[in-house]
Amino acid sequence: MSQSNEYVVLGAGITGLYTAYCLINEAKVSPHHITVIGEHLPGDGSVNYTSPRAGGNFSCITPDDDDTLEFDKYTYTHLEDLQNNIGGASKGIDHRQTTEYWDVYPGDKKINSLKSYLKKLKVIPNVQLPAGVAYGIKYTTWNFFCPFYIQSIAKYLRSKGVTFIKRKLTHISQAYLPRTKVVFNCTGLGSFSISGVKDSNVYPTRGQVLVVHAPHSRE
Ligand SMILES: Cc1cc2nc3c(=O)[nH]c(=O)nc-3n(C[C@H](O)[C@H](O)[C@H](O)COP(=O)(O)OP(=O)(O)OC[C@H]3O[C@@H](n4cnc5c(N)ncnc54)[C@H](O)[C@@H]3O)c2cc1C
Repeated sequence: MSQSNEYVVLGAGITGLYTAYCLINEAKVSPHHITVIGEHLPGDGSVNYTSPRAGGNFSCITPDDDDTLEFDKYTYTHLEDLQNNIGGASKGIDHRQTTEYWDVYPGDKKINSLKSYLKKLKVIPNVQLPAGVAYGIKYTTWNFFCPFYIQSIAKYLRSKGVTFIKRKLTHISQAYLPRTKVVFNCTGLGSFSISGVKDSNVYPTRGQVLVVHAPHSRE
């Protein structure tokens, strides 16, 4: 099938790669009509490329924002299909048991939302909570081995016929290639500086992921 650039995804982090995946599997766009452009692609490392460095743990952060609660539920329930499509648990995404503690009760709205979809959810009895903890739960979460997972999803997209171009753009308009109808801006922190976007609301936060060799631990 001939290649075209009708759909351009700018950015090859988790957001861009998942956007390309959704175009194929949910919007039923032909992979041959999708091009992913990124200054950095899976396999690269840079302080400006966040996805290979993420902790990669699913956790519902918002206490009560309706949209975010819905997005969290959608993500959790749809990752099953994604895991199957890219080749199963060996591709860098798998279930793990997790424990979450809060120093304040997170609220009925959030807890009721979590109860509607989290697998093996258990509320930890008060007597078993450590000192200073107001509320705790255990459940089955999704965990990603991020540097490997983004390479797995990129490999899947390439195998379907998606084109990847490694290039830094200075203006968002450069993402419009001949025949491009839609551009998805998935540049992450790059949105702060790329001309035509310059989103001053974007800012980096700091974090630290400590990788420990502990094959006995499945949590
Ligand atoms: C230490 C740490 C731990 C984290 N832990 C978790 C966690 O447990 N769970 C969780 O959900 N999230 C976690 N996060 C957050 C998560 O990593 C980010 O939200 C996510 O990786 C952002 O992905 P992205 O695709 O939006 O951006 P990025 O991965 O940064 O990708 C941006 C892409 O855009 C490209 N790009 C940018 N500008 C341009 C340009 N001008 N021209 C061409 N290409 C461009 C880049 O090259 C890259 O391909 C963590 C983050 C950190 C730092």
